[in-house]
Amino acid sequence: MKDAIIIDNYIGGQWKPPANRERLESINPANKREVMGYVANSTDFELNEAVYAAETARLLWRKKTGAERGQLLVRTAELLESRLDEIGETMCREMGKTFAEARGETARGAAILRYYAGEGMRKIGDVIPSSDAEAFLFTTRVPLGVIGVISPWNFPVAIPIWKMAPALIYGNTVVWKPAVETAVTAAAVMQCFHDAGFPLGAVNMIVGSGAVVGNGMANHPGIHGITFTGSNSVGKQVGQAALARGAKYQLEMGGKNPIIIAGDADLDLAVDAVISGGLRSTGQKCTATSRVIVERSIYELFKTKLLEKVATLKVGNGMDPSVWLGPCANEKQLETVLRYIQKGKEEGAVLLYGGTQPEDSDLSDGFYITPAVFDRVESRMSIAQEEIFGPVLALIEARDFEDAITLANDTSYGLSASIYTKNIGNVLSFVQNMEAGLIRVNAETAGVELQAPFGGMKQSSSHSREQGQAAIEFFTSVKTVFIKP
Ligand code: NAP
Repeated sequence: MKDAIIIDNYIGGQWKPPANRERLESINPANKREVMGYVANSTDFELNEAVYAAETARLLWRKKTGAERGQLLVRTAELLESRLDEIGETMCREMGKTFAEARGETARGAAILRYYAGEGMRKIGDVIPSSDAEAFLFTTRVPLGVIGVISPWNFPVAIPIWKMAPALIYGNTVVWKPAVETAVTAAAVMQCFHDAGFPLGAVNMIVGSGAVVGNGMANHPGIHGITFTGSNSVGKQVGQAALARGAKYQLEMGGKNPIIIAGDADLDLAVDAVISGGLRSTGQKCTATSRVIVERSIYELFKTKLLEKVATLKVGNGMDPSVWLGPCANEKQLETVLRYIQKGKEEGAVLLYGGTQPEDSDLSDGFYITPAVFDRVESRMSIAQEEIFGPVLALIEARDFEDAITLANDTSYGLSASIYTKNIGNVLSFVQNMEAGLIRVNAETAGVELQAPFGGMKQSSSHSREQGQAAIEFFTSVKTVFIKP
């Protein structure tokens, strides 16, 4: 067990404790007795200070060239890369994903920074033929101002970076509120920005509860745009508060992602995709596979193959390289998963495998659960409709391919959807008819490429897109300029 560390706020280029000196605890989900950090329980006082610092810094920051801003992003990427093991271990211990995944996520954070460094050199406008022969008509883009970033615990490095990197490269300054549960990891990321040498106040981090700091950000008149990733219930509140005061907002929220296994699919590949997409990170990904919709002709065979493989997955502390599934990230999440497993049984689904807390005494202090596979799930059931955010797979039988598409769309969410098939007709029908922002063919639901637009349809998103060049739409405003000599 390592000593707990103190996590303060980062405001105007300095680490500062909260004025009230109050602390919240961030604990290791693999061992609830281990406090990872005593983290600031900040209030509006610190939030105001950070917004002021960001507002002051933005006048200078927006005057820098894209290339100059990009150099600082590259420097931050280099620092992250030099600390992959250290940050990966902190993340693994703080939120439970395996060390390999945590290290990989940190490397992804560095790749995102490098990508956006390049975006600082791309065009930011278009020339449009004017109806006045003597005039020059064009568009250009300007930064929004101060951007509020609210991020969840499940990707504590990649998600805030995929918001902060575009915010910064397009000339905005940032106030970031990470999830309290991963504030120690967040501080390690913030330290990289600090060490890279950003101008004072260009990037700030306020640690505190969502109810106080997050809500304060959504309502703060000094925050011109707010980008949120998290649950639907909180996202809707953030969006309403921003809308009420005329601020721009971007919400990326939950998913209930389906995978369709068509009758002609390669079942071994499909099993691997379901396991990887549904159970990596202990199912705590917004793009995780949760509904496995299988055509009747191959249902029993697929089920047998899936169960064989799920039974081989080792549950345990993610620092152990032989472990496949770490604990749930926190006690509340474990309770949610257990509640849905109970509900699934009560509503008539058949629990074929797992869904229990392991009996191994080594694991008794962690928030562990064995991966659950439900059979005979019907689309009306809660486990087929509501986001669980845990290692629970719901097998749903489809009469035929058309029925599979109807079942896949039978949800209020629309983040990611995938299909396994060799039939080009099935592929085209899937691409055309699936109501989801990410469409994946012969691939798991949970794949994201940093250079491509990312976001959901229906209740999964406010319908703007993150990542890739799409990010410019949120993080800038367009000016249309007419010049008559
Ligand atoms: P959450 O409870 O909604 O929290 C997300 C962030 O919002 C945290 O920083 C939280 O702070 C803060 N927050 C809480 N209450 C707030 C309020 N009233 N006003 C403003 N901010 C507030 O979500 P989570 O449990 O951390 O994350 C899991 C959810 O995120 C899942 O639904 C998942 O699908 C979604 N997610 C979506 C994507 C995507 O890109 N679509 C990616 C990853 C995760 P504290 O927790 O520190 O209090």
